[in-house]
Amino acid sequence: MAKKSVVSSAISPRRQCRRCSVSFTPRRSNQVYCTDSCRVDDYKEKYYSPPKVTLVCPWCNEEFDTSAPKKTIYCPEKDCQREHAIDQMKKAREDHKRLKDLESQGLLAGRGR
Ligand SMILES: [Zn+2]
Ligand SMILES: [Zn+2]
Repeated sequence: MAKKSVVSSAISPRRQCRRCSVSFTPRRSNQVYCTDSCRVDDYKEKYYSPPKVTLVCPWCNEEFDTSAPKKTIYCPEKDCQREHAIDQMKKAREDHKRLKDLESQGLLAGRGR
């Protein structure tokens, strides 16, 4: 019997961080965030939320509000971004089809002879 492992028997109650939901051991009884950075981030979000800007969707021309103007170009409620992409795909396919038609009719330069 040489060694005796020292394990602290006092298990402090763990809490969940109000911001990132990580469980932590509070150093103060009123601590609700795991770290200072979580506390500061939450505070910033609450009191310095970015101002909303009104943008116009390039697809349906409807106005919408966003707080991240750089990311959002199409209105978020509708599927404008997807619809626009589908439309562009269709157009590309039609162009391709038209080319094929011209080709089969021998109307393209250098072809059909
Ligand atoms: Zn946290
Ligand atoms: Zn739209």
